[in-house]
Amino acid sequence: MEKNHYELVILGGGPAGMTAGLYASRARIDHVLLEKGAPGGQVLTTDWVDNYPGFPDGISGFDLMDKMTEQAKRFDVNILTKEVASLDLSDPDRKKIIFHDESVMTCDALIICTGASPNKLGIPGEIELAGKGVSYCGTCDAPFYRNMNVAVIGGGDTAVEEADYLTRFASKVTIIHRRDELRATKILQEKVFANEKVEYIWNSHVTAIEGGNEVERLQLKDNDGNTSTLDVQGVFILIGITPNNKALPVEELGCDEWGFIKTGCETETQIPGVFAAGDIRSKMMRQVVNACGEGANAVIAAEHYLTTRHGS
Ligand code: NAP
Repeated sequence: MEKNHYELVILGGGPAGMTAGLYASRARIDHVLLEKGAPGGQVLTTDWVDNYPGFPDGISGFDLMDKMTEQAKRFDVNILTKEVASLDLSDPDRKKIIFHDESVMTCDALIICTGASPNKLGIPGEIELAGKGVSYCGTCDAPFYRNMNVAVIGGGDTAVEEADYLTRFASKVTIIHRRDELRATKILQEKVFANEKVEYIWNSHVTAIEGGNEVERLQLKDNDGNTSTLDVQGVFILIGITPNNKALPVEELGCDEWGFIKTGCETETQIPGVFAAGDIRSKMMRQVVNACGEGANAVIAAEHYLTTRHGS
């Protein structure tokens, strides 16, 4: 049954949120997990997950989240499908969650697990071939491209680091960048420039990703308007990620310059009783495995807050 006050509200139903729900339910904390759509988050769109322990043959992102949802249901995690419009965190004992229909839910403690989304190019073939050669994560998908030719789009730290990592598997990695110099920090540039398996196409944009069932080639256009084709079996679009913080009071929470929430090592934000876990946190590594760990950690920290906040 939907109530309008809970001890703990969890925002988001990706790996961090689902794990938080599981731990909250098993700790018998009065809770609700709010998710705007189907639980699962970004992993739902990940074709294959090969680096989550316990699945020696790998598992599709959809099946992994389906299993997490099934497990959450077994422990009666209270999941409510409702999109949050904004938060009012000014009263520590009645943190307010405001919905689009202007109804309000309150809670004592809040765990934010709203995740992040990779930036998209918005070109033909990108959506159609996602998971079929189009990837947004080199660390996750590199082993699928053993002895193949792949392209990396972007010139920032992520693109350069992932291009270097991809050469452990791929036979050739071509970085395609829209300018004539990389944005990445110099030390990363030096490393990638020394890597003989990495080639570069400067001053160019990818205008289309083509292939039948899988990626076969990219259509390119340089800044003078000349067009060309590059044959690749994979393309890694690494042009930054955006935190899902639209409904969050970013300044009050304390975020880094990109809008990811800064936390202490127990996932606590600068607002007492408010925690953040998963990809929305300001951190180096964004993977399912650490999102789950942080979700569990956040519940333990929230439970500690709930039992000690009034000096008891
Ligand atoms: P980023 O620094 O914002 O770089 C994005 C790159 O994508 C830029 O080179 C940009 O080109 C390009 N780009 C953006 N939109 C594009 C578009 N529509 N078409 C083509 N290219 C496009 O993002 P990031 O590399 O993900 O890094 C994010 C932050 O995390 C950075 O502060 C980075 O330092 C940090 N980070 C640190 C490490 C590390 O310390 N080891 C590793 C990874 C990330 P322009 O250069 O022309 O703008």
